[in-house]
Amino acid sequence: MNDYYEILGVPRTATQEEIKRAYRKLARKLHPDVAGPEAEDQFKEVGRAYEVLSNPEKRQMYDLGGESALGGNGGGGAGFGFSDIFETFFGAAGGASRGPAPRGRRGQDALIRLEVELRDAVFGVEEEVQVDTAVLCGTCNGTCTRPGTSVQTCAVCHGRGSVQRVARSFLGNVMTTSPCSACGGHGTTIPDPCPECSGQGRVRNRRTIPVSVPAGVDTGNRIKLTGSGEVGPGGGPAGDLYVELRVRPHPVFARRGDDLYARVEVPMTAAALGTVLHLETFDGPEEIDIAPGTQPEEVITLEGLGVGRLNGPGRGDLKVQVDVEVPSALDDRQRELLLELATLRGEERAEPRLTPASSGVFSRLRDRFSGR
Ligand SMILES: [Zn+2]
Ligand SMILES: [Zn+2]
Repeated sequence: MNDYYEILGVPRTATQEEIKRAYRKLARKLHPDVAGPEAEDQFKEVGRAYEVLSNPEKRQMYDLGGESALGGNGGGGAGFGFSDIFETFFGAAGGASRGPAPRGRRGQDALIRLEVELRDAVFGVEEEVQVDTAVLCGTCNGTCTRPGTSVQTCAVCHGRGSVQRVARSFLGNVMTTSPCSACGGHGTTIPDPCPECSGQGRVRNRRTIPVSVPAGVDTGNRIKLTGSGEVGPGGGPAGDLYVELRVRPHPVFARRGDDLYARVEVPMTAAALGTVLHLETFDGPEEIDIAPGTQPEEVITLEGLGVGRLNGPGRGDLKVQVDVEVPSALDDRQRELLLELATLRGEERAEPRLTPASSGVFSRLRDRFSGR
């Protein structure tokens, strides 16, 4: 159990005046603004002891039954607990910072968007972006002062950045610390600000920055350029610049992961007889063998002609899906020939055969193109 008399360092016979004096001495010594946040618990304990012993009624209860007689940790029979008193008279504990605040603070991150072509995602590309951010003032180099002049120690706080005030309260005189309003807590003032940046240490500027876009990027990816964001107030270090990418859709090639997809239309006869297809890929013209008897929706894979892998070597594949074109308008001669073919193949009265849906075109389509 905490002995409140011991905490305040007074005998059990101490007068109200002695208790008050002991408390003031301890509060001054242990106040977080003086003793640092480590002393905060002890400081609160002292406050709690004083709250009880300075109140004759509570003191009597405490003397009779110890802490428990006061009804738990609140002890606030009067309608407000210790923390209320604490905050009213001391401010937020340990909240005021010690020492002057640096003038330069880190700047914000910046975000810019960049559109690239699918080809750029396949191979990677060197790009440039124009950014409009705060940059270090070239006239004062972020010192905020007119060249040839310098900052001056604040006459109000003498460089401490904070001012102490003695406030009278019913708990006695209490020291409070608050940022110096004369210097904004910096401890120094600028008698002669830099004319270029008005003493801000930074100016707005439009710059062109090179960006290396690696192969494999996709829409929504962000490239981080460390230290290329906004220079902070007072010429503080710059934040980072993020370049968010959007890959424009391509009229021919679709993308899924690192693979590219294309569809080619092949006449029915060519699919049956076989042919050679010429396809313009990102790597130049490619010859694709369409084997005799190629079926609708068949996919021909050209390995390594897809998108470069973002995290690793190699590239995805280029997948070409074959669409078989069935002639829709036949003249007499063509119909005659087809009928002859059908007869030859015993297909004049062919019955459509039902096949399991799972092995059919629909599921293959779904498997290959879902998500794109
Ligand atoms: Zn300047
Ligand atoms: Zn000051």
